[in-house]
Amino acid sequence: MEQKQAIGILGGTFDPVHYGHLLAAECARRAFGLERVILTPAAQPPHKEGLSFADKLHRLKMVKSAAADNKHFEVSELEIHREGFSYTVDTVNSLKLLYPHSPFFFIMGADALLLIKKWKNYQEITSLCNFIVVTRPGFNINKDYKSSIDLPVTFWSKVKQLEIPAVDISSSMIRQRIASGKPIKYLLPDAVESYIYSNNLYAKE
Ligand code: ATP
Ligand code: MG
Repeated sequence: MEQKQAIGILGGTFDPVHYGHLLAAECARRAFGLERVILTPAAQPPHKEGLSFADKLHRLKMVKSAAADNKHFEVSELEIHREGFSYTVDTVNSLKLLYPHSPFFFIMGADALLLIKKWKNYQEITSLCNFIVVTRPGFNINKDYKSSIDLPVTFWSKVKQLEIPAVDISSSMIRQRIASGKPIKYLLPDAVESYIYSNNLYAKE
């Protein structure tokens, strides 16, 4: 019975996790009646190759602490423990084995959709799940935006768009603020803020 309920997946580097991520996950969950949202931090995101990011175990711990107060959020360590690059297609396939009867919704911000054609086997992913694309400041999905991405009609039929409150926070902005000594309070959960300072993360970039 429980297995048939819809499941959301929010993938990301979460470097670090912030209120934009949590808001996207919760709004998607409520709007589409998802039974749970699985946050899956990437070990090695292929599209961020060459960039330095915080150790995967630090990122995992921060996501876990951010998700702890929402009983509908879960954190998956699938990508963290898989060797090599973290490909969404592998993650969705693994989660489908765990929950074979549940419909899956992959949640992403509008900025992520711009890169989807570069994802490994993106057409296979579209056959495995639906997509919830949430608005993100600077990336509203209008007609021009859609034609600039140039994806097949079959793909768009699986995309559900969701307008969420504009929260102009990104992990890169948080990393830059820390590196330049600016406050990050109220941009992410207090526990994540404390974790960052206790472990001296992002202090210099
Ligand atoms: P970075 O600046 O390092 O790229 P980020 O803030 O974009 O970090 P990611 O881990 O890259 O965070 O994002 C994971 C997912 O969350 C992506 O699908 C992204 O579009 C979405 N997302 C992140 N921040 C927001 C936000 N403020 N509003 C809506 N969606 C967001
Ligand atoms: Mg990003």
